[in-house]
Amino acid sequence: MSLPVVPPDPSPDPKIARDLRTLAQFIRIYCRHKHPDAPKRPPRIRGFDLDALRIRKLELCTPCGKLLAHAFVKRAHCPYSPKPACKHCQTHCYQPDYREQIRQVMRFSGRKLVMSGRLDLLFKLLF
Ligand SMILES: [Zn+2]
Repeated sequence: MSLPVVPPDPSPDPKIARDLRTLAQFIRIYCRHKHPDAPKRPPRIRGFDLDALRIRKLELCTPCGKLLAHAFVKRAHCPYSPKPACKHCQTHCYQPDYREQIRQVMRFSGRKLVMSGRLDLLFKLLF
């Protein structure tokens, strides 16, 4: 009997990992409220291990899953360190339709978090 092969921990950069968790949290809130009837499943994002990022029990509809994948790739490849707030950045790296979607997500979920007292998350706001 052999033990299952455990892949090496990709050791995501802690700052990036934290931003990815925040992104996942915002899109999760948005999807739950805006698309309550859409079929949802855990998103699979090539090159990212959600368990290693400590993003658990995330279920999104297909369009929100695609938005999350786009946001993850863009965040992970941001050429700036420290990363500026996106609205103050010269490089508009999001595709225009995703950019509009993520702005709506940030606005909607940001408001929800204020109302629920989760101000701690807002201090980590990316956008
Ligand atoms: Zn959705």
